[in-house]
Amino acid sequence: MGSLKIENVKKSFGSVDVLKGIDLEVNDGEFVVFVGPSGCGKSTLLRVIAGLEDATSGNVLIDGRKVDAVPPSDRGIAMVFQTYALYPHLSVRNNMSLGLKQAKTPTDEITRRVATASSMLSLEPYLERRPAELSGGQRQRVAIGRAVVREPKLFLFDEPLSNLDAALRVNTRLEIAQLHRRLSATMIYVTHDQVEAMTLADRIVVLNGGRIEQIGRPMELYNSPANEFVASFIGSPK
Ligand code: ADP
Ligand code: MG
Repeated sequence: MGSLKIENVKKSFGSVDVLKGIDLEVNDGEFVVFVGPSGCGKSTLLRVIAGLEDATSGNVLIDGRKVDAVPPSDRGIAMVFQTYALYPHLSVRNNMSLGLKQAKTPTDEITRRVATASSMLSLEPYLERRPAELSGGQRQRVAIGRAVVREPKLFLFDEPLSNLDAALRVNTRLEIAQLHRRLSATMIYVTHDQVEAMTLADRIVVLNGGRIEQIGRPMELYNSPANEFVASFIGSPK
């Protein structure tokens, strides 16, 4: 389970309207990519979906339940940020297990989940290291691993690769695609990189100025962009 329904979601900060009426349904197990220029509201929309930010109006439903009616620990959502947000004083193992310990997960279950996630993400050699002793790519894999051990039904990624160099971006992108196939979880992934969007997405949502310009499969957007904005953003020929 991990379906998502967004109904006419609006979000304002003071007098600034950031989300101007977003409607979207994401199917269980789908990989949906949000693209759009800087400042168009991608991160705000993710935060509203996660329930980290209240919508000004409209609803976010996860498996039919309003997200803000469910306590954060029971939402089944894990978010991965661009900046990793790891604890510098904790080992990789403890960074990955902290959330589970706080949720009172039994120790043997924590050990099992950390072993599975670190195997999937090739992190076994680094479990006793601290974040400062890792490369940027390894740190981002730890941040992804910390999400994986929670076994969420919905993953939210906010530009997870934008601090990595080009070669690492490709590798980490392939790992995320592989993770999606293995976990059968729903994933929503924000990027401003057209290649990431085209290669990862089941469907792409093109955002601009707090509204959805178009939703479609990558090749649908490429071949039939709804307007000039989508065409220029997806890189389709005029
Ligand atoms: P994106 O992720 O697409 O770059 P954001 O969702 O971060 O865009 O931001 C969209 C707009 O909302 C920006 O103009 C930003 O300045 C504004 N914004 C985001 N968060 C806040 C906040 N907490 N308070 C005021 N304005 C905000
Ligand atoms: Mg953002």
